[in-house]
Amino acid sequence: MIVTTSLDPLAKIAEMGDVTTHEPAGDQPLSERKQGNRYQSRSLAECITNVSAGSAKKPILATMLTTACERNCNYCVFRAGRAQTKRFTMTPDEMAKGFDQLQRGGQVEGLFLSSGIIKGSVTTQDKLIDTAEIIRKKYNFRGFVHLKVMPGAQYEQLYRAMQLADRVSVNMEGATPERLASLAPKKDWTNELLKMLQWAEQLRRDHPDQRLAKTVTQFVVGAVGDTDLELLSLSERLFRQLRLTRVYYSPFGPVEHTPFENLNRTDPQREHRLYQASFLLRDYNWNLEDLPFATSGNMPLDVDPKRAWAELNLRTAPIDLMHADREALMRVPGIGATGADAILKARRHTKLTDIASLRKVGIRAPEQAAPYILLNGKRVETQLNLF
Ligand code: SF4
Repeated sequence: MIVTTSLDPLAKIAEMGDVTTHEPAGDQPLSERKQGNRYQSRSLAECITNVSAGSAKKPILATMLTTACERNCNYCVFRAGRAQTKRFTMTPDEMAKGFDQLQRGGQVEGLFLSSGIIKGSVTTQDKLIDTAEIIRKKYNFRGFVHLKVMPGAQYEQLYRAMQLADRVSVNMEGATPERLASLAPKKDWTNELLKMLQWAEQLRRDHPDQRLAKTVTQFVVGAVGDTDLELLSLSERLFRQLRLTRVYYSPFGPVEHTPFENLNRTDPQREHRLYQASFLLRDYNWNLEDLPFATSGNMPLDVDPKRAWAELNLRTAPIDLMHADREALMRVPGIGATGADAILKARRHTKLTDIASLRKVGIRAPEQAAPYILLNGKRVETQLNLF
């Protein structure tokens, strides 16, 4: 294995794997995902990605401390022994310096830092933490930092990472220990991964006065027979019990010269439906039972989960928009949290009598809601759009 250490920091960063090809870093995972079969970047521009963090959209540097790894996850371009992967390694000082150059030059406003594992998780985690320490203390950077937590990192390391970063990710990869064993034979689902997320929540409870990083995770979807039910059932527990702010669903794509190179690529529509369902669980107070699982444990790809629920429940019992509460309004396709609030506000002083009045209060596609609502106590008449 050739490990290169002699390039200048920016040249090395340019050669690093473009991490967002493999995992999203911000709040809009679908728009952040880059397409194509390139596994490693060749230019700095490919390492800079626009992510949304809160309400802002920022260019961030998404990179790794090393593209070498001693583990052998079956789907991963960086797995040990894959001769085609170029291996680059940077010291914390080099990475921090390179990031500072980019940040001062106005090219990036944040950092997503991951790493392959070399000399164990604890040593690797120390290097990630050291990088963040230098960026925060020496270069005084106060902006967005997202740090990866290595499987099996120590409690004190997690605590320090959560003090330094805005967001930390512990990737579960598989929804059950069995799925993980097929994906990543050297990772321990319970002790190396789930335990990190449990500790993170414990740290937040033990230090309510401190501003600690939010936690997120990622699953590799579709390589080893995982079902939507498995993925969403664990997601629901992670949102409710361990207060994760985001679960990323990365559709599997085969990488040449890995044990999974001949497996089928996962349909991107499945990723889309999983995100729709997870937002319903996280933001709309839905339960797993509300989601349209078939006996296979998967959701249909041709209908979004909210519409599937509405077809079953609202076609025959439409919701009266003048009287429904906020939660009921948000059950209607085409009406989200903002739309529900706009309706509640508007109906205090006006009657919502037709589709035009809904558009006027800010419902962008009221036609989507039409089959499931009553306006003026009556079903809504809509014209068919023939062209
Ligand atoms: S530990 Fe991470 S970098 Fe290493 S092979 Fe597994 S997924 Fe890839």
